[in-house]
Amino acid sequence: MQELWKELEYEIKNCKKCILCTNRKNVVIGEGDLKSNIMFIAEAPGEEEDKEGRPFVGRSGNLLTKILNSVGLSREDVYMTNVVKCHPLNNRNPNIEEVESCYPFLETQIALVNPKLIVTIGAVSTKYILKDKFTEKMKITKIRGQEFEWEGGIVVIPILHPSYLLRNSSTSEGSPKWNTWQDMKKIKDKFDMWR
Ligand code: URA
Repeated sequence: MQELWKELEYEIKNCKKCILCTNRKNVVIGEGDLKSNIMFIAEAPGEEEDKEGRPFVGRSGNLLTKILNSVGLSREDVYMTNVVKCHPLNNRNPNIEEVESCYPFLETQIALVNPKLIVTIGAVSTKYILKDKFTEKMKITKIRGQEFEWEGGIVVIPILHPSYLLRNSSTSEGSPKWNTWQDMKKIKDKFDMWR
């Protein structure tokens, strides 16, 4: 297993399959428990992540870490990655060609971690993970916290992206932050059940 991770790391670090390789400082492969039952998948590394080569280390990452901690989970309990492994300049969303070139890496990661639950972070990763189960009518604010059945019996739960929560600071009942906290408690319950 260690060998397979090393091979994957080598392939990602040397990947030149799309334009995103031209401006990257670092690839951001992922981090956390390689055998976790829970995998968090967001869209793409931001500027800070590109500098450090680690996922979720910027402002939204700090918020995500705080929300995890608030329900008794740590970053080390889960595995975190992104759909694409290189930072798109100006934080634009990755386009379909970029996602398609990078997707085999994500599929390998999912196969290696073998999670029971995938938590998609934000609308972009939710759309690319749910594929034809996702329709343009679906709003992330409506489907967050819901369970979707995925390949191989894996459950997918979408949550709101922490960058959205940074722009919506209310914590009152029914607010995006409050809803995300409910979703995270549900995720923690599953984590405990599978331990
Ligand atoms: N935003 C993302 O979507 N992914 C990260 O790793 C950091 C910020």
